[in-house]
Amino acid sequence: MVRKSTDILISGGGVAGLTAAIAFGEAGFDVLCVDPSAPVTDRQSAGADMRSTAFLMPSVELFQDIGLWDRLQPYAAALQIMRIADAGGVAGDARMTRDFDAAELSEHPFGYNLPNWLLRREMVAHLANLPNVTFSAGVSTTQITPRETEALVTLSDSTSWRARLLIGADGRDSNVRQAAGIPVKTTRYGQKALAFTTTHPIPHHNVSTEVHRSGGPFTMVPLPDHDGLPASAVVWMEEGHEIARLAALPQPAFEAEMNLRACHILGPMTRTSPLTIWPIISQIATRMSAQRIALMAEAAHVVPPIGAQGLNMSLADLATLRDLALADHADLGSAKMLDAYHNRRHREVQARVAGIDALNRASMMGAPVLRDLRASLLGALYSAAPVRKTLMKAGLGLR
Ligand SMILES: Cc1cc2nc3c(=O)[nH]c(=O)nc-3n(C[C@H](O)[C@H](O)[C@H](O)COP(=O)(O)OP(=O)(O)OC[C@H]3O[C@@H](n4cnc5c(N)ncnc54)[C@H](O)[C@@H]3O)c2cc1C
Repeated sequence: MVRKSTDILISGGGVAGLTAAIAFGEAGFDVLCVDPSAPVTDRQSAGADMRSTAFLMPSVELFQDIGLWDRLQPYAAALQIMRIADAGGVAGDARMTRDFDAAELSEHPFGYNLPNWLLRREMVAHLANLPNVTFSAGVSTTQITPRETEALVTLSDSTSWRARLLIGADGRDSNVRQAAGIPVKTTRYGQKALAFTTTHPIPHHNVSTEVHRSGGPFTMVPLPDHDGLPASAVVWMEEGHEIARLAALPQPAFEAEMNLRACHILGPMTRTSPLTIWPIISQIATRMSAQRIALMAEAAHVVPPIGAQGLNMSLADLATLRDLALADHADLGSAKMLDAYHNRRHREVQARVAGIDALNRASMMGAPVLRDLRASLLGALYSAAPVRKTLMKAGLGLR
C-alpha cells in the first residue's frame, strides 16, 4: 500500500478544525484537514449553522496572529457589556440586572461576536491561499493506527497517510478519541438549546444579555445590523420537551413566547432565521493526548453555551498546541510535546467544565425559593467589586 505523508492530519473541519488548519498552515507545516461534509457557507442554505460565537480577547489575538482577523473584523459585533438578568419572579419581568463593563478592566471590549456560517465561509476562503494546506470535504478518517514515529491513517476515499501528528477535532463523538481508547465523562441535563437570529427596534448598544429563569438562560448576543435593523443572535435553553413544544409553534406564537422570555428588553423581536436545536451536555475526555494524537475542541470537552466558553477553550487548546509545535519543529507529535500539551490544558479545561456545570445547574433552578436564592446570589456576587473583577477576568480568559 502506498502511503502519502503529511506533517499534520486534522480530522474534522468544524470551526475548530478549520482554524487549526489555518494556524498550522501559517506556521509552515504541511496540513491535511478532512471532514465528511462540506461546510455550509451561506446563511440561506439548508444546514447553515445559525449559532454565533462570542470570541473573547485571547481568541481574537490568536486570529490576529494567524492572519484571519482582518477578514473577520468587518462582520464582528463588539461585546462591551455583559448583562445578567434574573427573571425568576413575574413572567416577563427582569427583576434584577447586573452589568459587567469591559471598560472596568481594559480599553478593549470583552470580545466580538460572529455568525458560525460566516466563520466557515471566511475560513474556507482563507485556506485557498495556503498552498501547504489541503482541505478535503466529503472525506472522513476511518482507520487509525498510532506508531511511535507517526500515526497511520486511512481515509474514506481509500487513501492512506502517515502523519507526525494527528489532531482529533472531530466533535463530541470523536472517532479519533475512540480509536485512541480515551474515555469521556458525560453529564446530561435533559436540556436543549434553540439558536436563531432576530432583529429588534431597540439597539443593543453592544450589550450581551443573559436572562435567567428556570430551564436555563435566554441569551441575546449583539450582531451587526441586519437589513438596516439592530440584530442579535439568541440562544434559548430549556428542558428538552419544552424546546420541542416551542419549535413546533407557528412563528407569531413563537415570537410572543420569545418576547415574554426576553422580558421585552430589546422591544418586540422578530425571528429572522430558521430554528436550530442543540442538545446540551457537559463532557470531558480523561486525557487530551495519546501516542501521536492530540484531541482538541469538542473532541476533548463540551460545555453548555453559558459564558461563551466552548470554542474559546478550543482556541486555547489550539494556541497551546501551536506554540509547542513552533518551539521545536522537529519534535512535532513526540511524546514529550503531547505530554506537555495534556499537562498545560487538562487541569484548566477540568476547572472550566466544572464551573460551567455549576452555573448551568444554578440557572436551571425551578422552585420559587431556589429562584429567589439564585437572584440574591447573583446580586451579591456581582455587587462585590473584587469578585466581579475576578469573574470578569476569568470570563476574558485572563489570569
Ligand atoms: C447553541 C450554542 C451556542 C454556542 N455559543 C458559543 C459562544 O458564543 N462561544 C463559544 O466559545 N462557544 C460557543 N458554543 C460552543 C461552540 O459552538 C462549539 O464548541 C463548537 O462549534 C464546536 O466546534 P468543533 O469544531 O469542536 O465541533 P463540530 O462543529 O462538531 O465539528 C466537528 C467536525 O468533525 C467532523 N467529523 C465527524 N466525524 C469525522 C470523521 N470520522 N472524520 C473527519 N471528520 C469528522 C464533523 O463533520 C464536524 O464538521 C456554542 C454551542 C452551542 C450549542
